[in-house]
Amino acid sequence: MIAPSKNGWVVIAGLGPGNEALVTQEVRDTIDAATDIVGYIPYVKRIAPRDGLTLHASDNRVELDRATHALEMAATGKRVVVVSSGDPGVFAMASAVFEALEAGPKDWLDLDIRVLPGITAMLAAAAQIGAPLGHDFAAINLSDNLKPWSLIETRLRAAGEAGFAMAFYNPRSKSRPHQFARALEILRDACGGDTLISFARDVTKPTQQINTVALKHATPEMADMRTMVIVGNRDTRAIGRFVYTPRSAGDATS
Ligand code: SAH
Repeated sequence: MIAPSKNGWVVIAGLGPGNEALVTQEVRDTIDAATDIVGYIPYVKRIAPRDGLTLHASDNRVELDRATHALEMAATGKRVVVVSSGDPGVFAMASAVFEALEAGPKDWLDLDIRVLPGITAMLAAAAQIGAPLGHDFAAINLSDNLKPWSLIETRLRAAGEAGFAMAFYNPRSKSRPHQFARALEILRDACGGDTLISFARDVTKPTQQINTVALKHATPEMADMRTMVIVGNRDTRAIGRFVYTPRSAGDATS
């Protein structure tokens, strides 16, 4: 039993894209040393129960409450791991913990807080596809939960026109079925219909599916919330079963 003390800590850890072999040793060791695990229900399910470990699973969209709870527990001496899928700094819990820290009591700044990286879905998907992010790219969250849709449209168009390859998280949900269709329209316009787009679903899980088409043939139904979408730039090409983006662009090779 840990007495309330200054020895508590909060670690915000990434569990990778799904395959347990892709959880880092650093994250495993930290989970082994924890008294409490905090996170969204499906991610907490990935942690094996054991004596001395309390699992606090919560629903989606309560990130700030969850982060505050983690900091409160650490302040009473608990050793808390906040789990995210992929990397905790990519559209996930690390920022939520710092938001809670900023809003909380000043003495929380003295807590032992660390962020441990994980393999983000974008990189796991790119590796399965080949090397679609081999040149400059932008990572964009297509959810309008925390930003207006108009800003997403602006960023999509700007990134496409600037020649960035792109990786999309949270591409399409049931609550906003028309938005991904609109995103595809903007991309066709900004990048050209022949640009390759890959849909990588359940990456590194037994149910993994990868599908690559030209943007002009892409349909909204090809994506859901378990899909990472990667759009190449105009130089991105298919070679056998791989898709890759050359390392040079513009007139760098001439
Ligand atoms: N922090 C996470 C991302 C959270 S946002 C990370 O770094 O990966 C959640 C989105 O990530 C999902 O909607 C989906 O677009 C993507 N995603 C997460 N795991 C995935 C997987 N195994 N396969 C495909 N996409 C995945």
